[in-house]
Amino acid sequence: MTQEDTAVNAYTDDTIAAIATPPGVGGLGIVRLSGPEAFDIGLRIFRPAHPLTESESPPSHQLLYGHVVDPASDTVIDEVLAAFMRAPRTYTREDVVEISAHGGPLVLRRILELALAAGARSAQPGEMTLRAFLNGRVDLAQAEAVMALINAETDAGHRLALRQLQGELSAEVGAARGHALDAMVRIEASIDFPEEEVPPPDPAELAGLIAGARQMIERLLAGADRGRVLREGLRVALVGRPNVGKSSLLNALLRTERAIVTPVAGTTRDTVEEKALIGGLAVHLVDTAGLTPSDDPVERIGVERSRAAARSADLLLLVLDGSEPLMALDESVAAELHALTENESARPAILVLNKADLPRQLPDDTAQALWPGAPLVATSTLTGDGLAALEGQLAALALGGTAQAGDALVSSARHKDALRRSLEHIQAAEVTLANGLPLDFVAIDLRAALDALGEITGETATADLLDRIFAEFCIGK
Ligand code: GDP
Repeated sequence: MTQEDTAVNAYTDDTIAAIATPPGVGGLGIVRLSGPEAFDIGLRIFRPAHPLTESESPPSHQLLYGHVVDPASDTVIDEVLAAFMRAPRTYTREDVVEISAHGGPLVLRRILELALAAGARSAQPGEMTLRAFLNGRVDLAQAEAVMALINAETDAGHRLALRQLQGELSAEVGAARGHALDAMVRIEASIDFPEEEVPPPDPAELAGLIAGARQMIERLLAGADRGRVLREGLRVALVGRPNVGKSSLLNALLRTERAIVTPVAGTTRDTVEEKALIGGLAVHLVDTAGLTPSDDPVERIGVERSRAAARSADLLLLVLDGSEPLMALDESVAAELHALTENESARPAILVLNKADLPRQLPDDTAQALWPGAPLVATSTLTGDGLAALEGQLAALALGGTAQAGDALVSSARHKDALRRSLEHIQAAEVTLANGLPLDFVAIDLRAALDALGEITGETATADLLDRIFAEFCIGK
């Protein structure tokens, strides 16, 4: 995509048109027009059943029954319902026309072509939402929430996207910005008008404002990992020596769920990854082949993949065979796992004692010694015993033990990154202030922190960043 092709650079006040429904055959399909000429173009191709007089404008926000007619040949293309919606109470805050036609790809394409022939321009991906953003109807975080909402696969992801769309994240970021901005304004007033009556700001008061901003950013960051899990799903790695029942467990977990999502692409023969819905969460289950180092070059690849899966997992299931005594291999798998994760913050793990339908040979405390503090669940993939308990543990650990996600507002890597950078600058401002350096320096740090926060809601987003974000949208949105 060249610079000129991107939605942000293409933005003018022309009228754009797109098929707003997914490609393929459907019961209904919608062609959407937005821009100052939307009504004129709409009326050139749509003939209402009850004709309007020459000077009459179609009633706003009402459905009109009629036909799409090719003005050049006077042929009827389809029987449709059309909604003419006057700015500003529309998706883009511009005049919008939506034509609901029969959902065949050919019909929709013909209608779109007629709109283009009548003077509209073909919309770029995300251009409708971009206009909503540029016209101030939504901020950038809300515009991104539109895409998250469309792509949501789980109830949890859906709820999170909706809260973001309704502006909850924007309000929190705005509050943090407000504190930093207050501090900034006080400093700048004293810098800009040193001779006037503006007294130098009280350092304690400045420190209080800056600390307030920092605490808000920290709170948002604290919920970010949980937000990511809610949005993208929880990555769970099943680890254990061969034959303890990892594959059986994976299949059993998939089977217990009614809504099974399709297998993830890129499945290799070394690690098998599937996606299930557990407690309203998307869970990516990875069955690892083995962690123990090997001299066999082929096996080595499998070991590397398994290690990578274990390293990137949010949660580990250490699977043991409860019907056998502990084996040296169990211990070496656990040791490998500890080695892989020891430099990181505590990674939640669950000890799974499988084959509970057979007489127990492995005592709880022997298993527990492999991973002190981890919850222990006995399961049988044959009878299904313990699977519900395992799922409960999984969901509870995923949501940080509280099983509620009220404080998780940040779910995108982009937002987390901006918050992290903002936090660094805020902390630098605090140090600068505490060291008694000139207030200009504090202002520089605060400005950088404000800019980073503004990237989330869009105040300081560059055209490049906007292009990158909106290019991920689908056409017609
Ligand atoms: P993996 O190598 O860890 O993936 O283990 P598999 O899932 O391939 O299972 C190894 C063997 O244990 C198979 O013969 C399974 O049928 C059996 N198995 C798995 N789970 C259970 C269980 O809960 N109870 C019993 N009795 N056998 C099981």
